[in-house]
Amino acid sequence: FNVPAPQNEPVLNYGPRSIERAALKAALAEGRAQVIDIPMYIGGEEVRTGKTLEVRPPHDHKHLLANAHEGDASHVKAAIDAALAAKENWEIMPWEQRAAIFLKAADLLAGPYRAKINAATMLGQSKNAYQAEIDAACEFIDFLRFNVQYMTEIYAQQPISSKGVWNRVEHRPLEGFIFAITPFNFTAIAGNLCAAPALMGNVVVWKPAPTQLYTANVIMQVFNEAGLPPGVINMINVDGPVAGDVIFTHRDFAGLHFTGSTHVFQNLWKIIGNNISNYRSYPRIVGETGGKDFVLAHSSANAEVVATALVRGAFEYQGQKCSAASRAYIAKSIWPAVKEKMIADIASFKVGPTEDFENFVNAVITEASFDKLAKYIDEAKANPDVEIITGGTYDKSVGYFVQPTVIQVQDPYYVTMCEELFGPVLSIYVYEDEQFEEIMNIIDNTSPYALTGSIIAQDRYAVTQATTRLRNAAGNFYINDKPTGAVVGQQPFGGARGSGTNDKAGSMQNLLRWSSPRTIKETF
Ligand code: GLU
Repeated sequence: FNVPAPQNEPVLNYGPRSIERAALKAALAEGRAQVIDIPMYIGGEEVRTGKTLEVRPPHDHKHLLANAHEGDASHVKAAIDAALAAKENWEIMPWEQRAAIFLKAADLLAGPYRAKINAATMLGQSKNAYQAEIDAACEFIDFLRFNVQYMTEIYAQQPISSKGVWNRVEHRPLEGFIFAITPFNFTAIAGNLCAAPALMGNVVVWKPAPTQLYTANVIMQVFNEAGLPPGVINMINVDGPVAGDVIFTHRDFAGLHFTGSTHVFQNLWKIIGNNISNYRSYPRIVGETGGKDFVLAHSSANAEVVATALVRGAFEYQGQKCSAASRAYIAKSIWPAVKEKMIADIASFKVGPTEDFENFVNAVITEASFDKLAKYIDEAKANPDVEIITGGTYDKSVGYFVQPTVIQVQDPYYVTMCEELFGPVLSIYVYEDEQFEEIMNIIDNTSPYALTGSIIAQDRYAVTQATTRLRNAAGNFYINDKPTGAVVGQQPFGGARGSGTNDKAGSMQNLLRWSSPRTIKETF
């Protein structure tokens, strides 16, 4: 099991005169200068239907980036057939060869494709250069390299044998195909939701979010150039319910790898349940869904640490991370200092298009998302018990821009403290210092989610209490840090309750879901 030891891909800094900035600028200019055609990828073929969906940058919605070809039920069937046709050769291929393909893909992303995939993520999903770099380059590369290592560790774990007997476990792929559904907010998640099952020998039908097609196209180019055989990963662009009708009634549907909304995931689970007797095996259902992630600041906390955790946790990528800090509970005695620092930090943020590297906050993903956020902000403005501390304005004339907004509430159960908004809006409740115990009960009971959360305190007893009391409130718990930015190999990521099945992304546990082990006993 000799594979290259994985190390986290270093994050490039894109300084004004750096080589990487020049390369990225060139890739952005190239992306802007043409209107590309995005095919579906089925059985190694590029499929064009002539019926297309327009792809535009969220920060500049008058500009056309691409036309993405849309399919129908026949393309979903074709993608399943192509996957099943590729299956046998792929699953009997020695694991080293499968691993080599994904390690090659990682090297392509680290080198020749780095600027291209980052530029695609900046144009298509409105990430700034740094947010694109930590996602589309570093995290995606890390998923690929670390998963190869984890796969070998899984294969190496074997049962004991005895005299005259050799026991072994063979990690077979699932019998059928995997359906991957991926969200707009992370290019790395899209890549990993396809690559992880495929690395374990499975074949995949992939439906990216329509708002992610521009990068999905680059991901397919990388996999193809790395030598992935035709049909192992098939990308379709088909309306969700149309695709679902074909996929979830197919006898060979073997697993769902999902990141997206809680509501959609629960519906899919019900549909799968209703079809359960039609499948050859019980499908594996793996999903990462919503979050309403908290920051709890104790009276002993350093105010600067709190303010930094809040502004970075809440406003990086416009708060469109499942892990984003969106509700905070701050002890009254430190609130004035936290507020002052936070307002000063936010005032220094520039808001605007991604191509200007000075802009920290860019557009939110769609008009629907913009309108939803505007509605919450307007309701907050109209409520006498809610104070807009900063932000509260928005403008969609050029792109879907929402100013970073902080609101202070009097009621810890006010709607923005409970519901997932998925945008740059942070709600704050200030509690009396001696209410610390009570506030932990409120945190634990306010939302159905349990993805990420932070305790910020210098008092060790407060840290211990929060870590214990809030043990089920977050799958990723941070002490004296923001609740975002999990790094592959360092903080395996995922939550329970309404946030998902908690099969940590980029972990042995996740890869094991894509294996159907066979135990073999051989007697000599
Ligand atoms: N893994 C990301 C983080 O730690 C969040 C992933 C997501 O938004 O789904 O910030």
